[in-house]
Amino acid sequence: MPPDRARNADVLDLTITQKHHSLTNHLIHTKKRKEKENRPTVTHTTEVIEISSDEDEEPVPPPPRTPKKGAPPTPNERARLLLTALEKKFRALEQEKKQLEAQVNCLRQENAEFRAKGTVHLNNDDVDEHILCEVCSLTMWTPYVLTCGHAFCGSCLESWFDRALRDWASRYPQFPPHVLQAAHIARYGIPPPQYLCPKCRTAVSSKPTQDFTLKGLVGTIAKAKGEAKPGAKETSFRKYFDS
Ligand SMILES: [Zn+2]
Ligand SMILES: [Zn+2]
Repeated sequence: MPPDRARNADVLDLTITQKHHSLTNHLIHTKKRKEKENRPTVTHTTEVIEISSDEDEEPVPPPPRTPKKGAPPTPNERARLLLTALEKKFRALEQEKKQLEAQVNCLRQENAEFRAKGTVHLNNDDVDEHILCEVCSLTMWTPYVLTCGHAFCGSCLESWFDRALRDWASRYPQFPPHVLQAAHIARYGIPPPQYLCPKCRTAVSSKPTQDFTLKGLVGTIAKAKGEAKPGAKETSFRKYFDS
């Protein structure tokens, strides 16, 4: 190759090499720029943490989420709906309770007024005069009335008649005691014993009878006075009277 042509070839080769190098640099620069553009932007922010005391302020509940139309309620939404329904029911029951209490108070007042109207106030001494037995001075829980109209305890009358019978029988010592009873005395032709009212001394001609009306009144008054009814005792006047 002649020297001129060889020098021209070197210059051409150098030019091509420089252009290639320039193109390569351009491509590298373009690639780096694109990578930089695609890289996610990192924003540095300053977080502020507020520290507050729970005693000073209550935590604010998150606002209720509006359910989407047609979507089934979440467990939290169901719980909130149930709580709302229960609170409504509770308020209704409270209202009903107040109304019932007002009715009860009204009825109590009416009952007190009714009882006050039906209550009879009696003098204790006046009452005792009629419900106490004049033999034993105790309450006549089981009153028996005589033909004269006076009433006494059945047991008191029994004791009263028995004493009279024993006094009468003492006049007839020849007869055994079981004979000297109302059912047998008439057979022996002797005058029968005389039984008298403990109060007015009127002869008692027939067996005393239990006065159920007086018994009821005595029981009611005695219970109102706080007395307890004693055990009932069987009373029979068959020993002293035929009828
Ligand atoms: Zn008595
Ligand atoms: Zn009498």
